[in-house]
Amino acid sequence: MNIILLGPPGSGKGTQSTYLSSAYNLNHISTGDILRSEINEKTKLGLEAKSYMNSGNLVPDNLIIEMVSKKLSLFSSVLLDGFPRTLNQAEALDNELAILDKKIDYVFYFDVPTENLVFRLSQRISCKNCSSIFSKNDEQFICLSSCIEQVLYQREDDKPEAISKRMESYVSLTTPLIDFYDKKQIMIKINANKPILEVSKEIDLIMQG
Ligand code: ADP
Repeated sequence: MNIILLGPPGSGKGTQSTYLSSAYNLNHISTGDILRSEINEKTKLGLEAKSYMNSGNLVPDNLIIEMVSKKLSLFSSVLLDGFPRTLNQAEALDNELAILDKKIDYVFYFDVPTENLVFRLSQRISCKNCSSIFSKNDEQFICLSSCIEQVLYQREDDKPEAISKRMESYVSLTTPLIDFYDKKQIMIKINANKPILEVSKEIDLIMQG
C-alpha cells in the first residue's frame, strides 16, 4: 500500500504519519525530515536546501525529485509526507511509480482552516533527535522514540515571516494537486481540524474499508 498525505503546513501530516506508519507498517518518507537531517549533517544537498527552507520557500524540484526517487525504490509500502508539493513533482512521482510497477492507493487531503494553521505552527516545537512534534501548550514532552536527550527547539521556518511565505507557496504551488488527485479519484478529504486521535480514527475507518 502507498499513501500520500497532502495538506497545508501545520495541518498535522507529520503527527498522523507517526501513527499511520506504525499502525499500517508503512515506511514514512518525510521530505522535510530528510532535508533537516541533511542540513544537520552539512551535506551538499543540505547546504543547497538550507536557505530555501529557512525562509519558507520550496526547495527546487530537481533536488527533491532525485532525493525521493532514491528512497522509493527501497521500500514496498510508503507513506509520503510533504511530497509531492508541486505538479512537477506529482508528475515525476507518477513516472517513477510506473517504472517500479507501483501505484498510489490513497491521497489523504488534510483540511484545516487557514487561521488555525498559523496558530498551530507558531506553537509547534520539535525534537531535534527524532523529529517528534509537540505544542508549546502540551503538559509534557516525551519523544516517541524515547530520546535520551530531548533537544526541543522551534524550527527556523516556524517563525512568523517564514510561516506566511510557506502559506503563500502552499496556495500557489501545492493546492493544484488537490484537483490533480481528485481527477484520479484517489483523493479523500479528511477533516483535520479535530483532536489528533479523532483524525487518526477518521483515517482508520477508511483504511479498514
Ligand atoms: P510543513 O509541511 O510543516 O511546512 P515540512 O517539514 O514538510 O513542513 O517541510 C519544511 C520545508 O522543507 C518546506 O517549507 C520546504 O522548504 C522544504 N520541503 C519539504 N518538502 C518539499 C518538497 N516536496 N518540495 C520542495 N520543498 C520541500
